[in-house]
Amino acid sequence: MILLFGPTGAGKSMQGQMLAVRMGWKWLSTGEMLRESSDPAVIEVLKSGELVSDELTYEVFDAAIKDARAKKFPQIIVDGFPRTKAQAEWLGDYMEKSGHKIEHVVVLEVPETEIMKRLEKRGRMEDTPETIARRMTIYRQKMYPVLGSFAEDGVKITHLDGTGTAGEVHDRLYTEVVGE
Ligand code: AMP
Repeated sequence: MILLFGPTGAGKSMQGQMLAVRMGWKWLSTGEMLRESSDPAVIEVLKSGELVSDELTYEVFDAAIKDARAKKFPQIIVDGFPRTKAQAEWLGDYMEKSGHKIEHVVVLEVPETEIMKRLEKRGRMEDTPETIARRMTIYRQKMYPVLGSFAEDGVKITHLDGTGTAGEVHDRLYTEVVGE
């Protein structure tokens, strides 16, 4: 399993999907699955930029992993999970129980000014200036510290330059994760 980290607008989804398509891997995004929810309460949380409950996140993650394994995907790229230390601990237990491991964590690094420019163009339902600011704060306060737990556990972590065109970032990611 490969985890993609980075703030909102860093290009995790696009890069995760591009690599997954090229390699025949599964791209798994908790945000994408949650956006498909028909529960108005969930959609409200998404629009606010806050995190949904851990329980719901675990539910969608577990279902997607089971589906990917049933379909025999050789590798899974996870985008947007875990987002908190509690989720990271849960994932650690989950992986241990299922006999799998996190092979690599890739952090897409993009300056905040560049992210703001990108999000203005994207225009998703939750991309208002307030929720973008909120998600940035959550990333810095909750998600970034999760990297510390992975480092303690000896998981390979790579910080990748996420600026430039999608193709340029893809080439860097491919080289880093797959090799030359
Ligand atoms: P993303 O597409 O990864 O930016 O996620 C969009 C939104 O989905 C986030 O702002 C959260 O509201 C929710 N979400 C996605 N992944 C998680 C997670 N691991 N834990 C809690 N909420 C999440």
